Amino acid sequence: KPVILTCAQPTGQLTLGNYLGAIKNWATMLDDYECYFGVVNMHSITVPYTPTDLRKNTLSCVAQYIACGLDPERSNIFVQSHVIGHTELAWLLSCITPIGDLQRMTQFKEKAAKLGFNVGEGNDLKFTHEGARAGASVNSGLLMYPVLMAADILLYNADAVPVGNDQRQHLELCRDLAQRFNHKYSDTFTIPEAFIPKEGARIMSLQDPERKMSKSDDNQNATLYLLDEPSKLKKKIMSAVTDSGSEIVAGDDKPGVSNLLQIYSAMSGRTVADIEESLKGEGYGTLKKEVADAVISVLEPVQAKYHDLIQDKAYLEGVLKSGAEAAQKRAYKVLGKAYRKAGFVERP
Ligand code: ATP
Ligand code: MG
Repeated sequence: KPVILTCAQPTGQLTLGNYLGAIKNWATMLDDYECYFGVVNMHSITVPYTPTDLRKNTLSCVAQYIACGLDPERSNIFVQSHVIGHTELAWLLSCITPIGDLQRMTQFKEKAAKLGFNVGEGNDLKFTHEGARAGASVNSGLLMYPVLMAADILLYNADAVPVGNDQRQHLELCRDLAQRFNHKYSDTFTIPEAFIPKEGARIMSLQDPERKMSKSDDNQNATLYLLDEPSKLKKKIMSAVTDSGSEIVAGDDKPGVSNLLQIYSAMSGRTVADIEESLKGEGYGTLKKEVADAVISVLEPVQAKYHDLIQDKAYLEGVLKSGAEAAQKRAYKVLGKAYRKAGFVERP
C-alpha cells in the first residue's frame, strides 16, 4: 500500500478548519493507504506556549483524531517526540536548505507578524515597535519549522501528504529538499505528492474572512473548535462577519457569506448552488441559523465520542504506544539510510 503521513499541532484545540481541510479526508484513506498520523508537539513550541497546556492538548488531540474517525486499528497514531529521527533528519535537511527559502515562507511571515515582527522586503527581519509583544522574539525554531515538517514527511518515505491549502508552500519546499538530497547524494527519498481537497481546503476566520481560520487565533470568536459546546458554536456562527448587500450568493466580493456557504456545503454534503437556490429571498440570519444546525449535527456525535475516549487514558496511551512502535520502525530504516548517504559512519 502507498504510505501517507500527515500531522496536526497540539498548539490548542482542533478547529473546524482542521476537520474540513484535513482530518475528515484522512479518515477516508484508512483502507487504501498505510497511514501515519502525527501529533507534532515539537512544532508547537515554535510559538509562545505553556507546557501544562501542551501536555494536556497532546492527549486531547489524539482523542479528537479518533473521535473524528481515525481508526487506530487501521492507522498509526503517534506523538512526534516519541519517535527518534524527526529532529535528526531535520538537521541533515537544514544543511541543504538556503536560509532565504525559509524567510520567504508565508506561514513564517504571518506567525512572526503575530509576535509583532515584520519580515520586510529583502528578507530583513524588521522590528515593528507598536504591537510587538512584550519580551517576544522570533526564535530560529519558527524559521526552521518547514525543515522539521519536511523531515516529518521524508522520514516515512511518504508517497502522499493530505493537507489543507495553507500547507502547499511547505510541501513544495519538502519536495525540493527531497530532490536536492537525492541529487546531492543518491536516490534516498520518495518525492511526496500533496493531496489537497477540492472542498474545505481553506476555511476562513469568522471574524476576518480574508484570513484562514487558525487554532492559534487570539480572537476566540473567529474560530469554531470541534469541542465547543453547541450553544457556543451557534453564538459564534450567528456573530460571524458578513458582507454588504443581502443576497445569499458566493463570490469574491462576499468573503464572509462565501465562507459560511463553504462550511455549510462541506458539513451537509449539499452543493453551494443548491444551498443558494434553497435560500433565495432569505436573509443572512437564516443562512447562519442553518449553518449552525449543520455544524452542530456533525459535531455533536464527535463530541460525545470524544468525551468517552478522554476518560480512558489507558486506551489512549495504548494507541500511542503501538503508534510509536510502528512509526519508529519505519523511521529508523529511513534515517539509517540517510545517515549512510550523508557519510556518517555507523555506530560500531
Ligand atoms: P496553528 O495556528 O497552530 O498553525 P492550524 O489551525 O493552522 O494551527 P495546524 O496544526 O497547523 O493547524 O494544521 C493541521 C492541518 O489542518 C493541516 O493539514 C492544515 O493544512 C489544515 N488546516 C489548518 N487550518 C485550516 C483551514 N483554515 N482550512 C482548512 N485546512 C486547514
Ligand atoms: Mg498551521
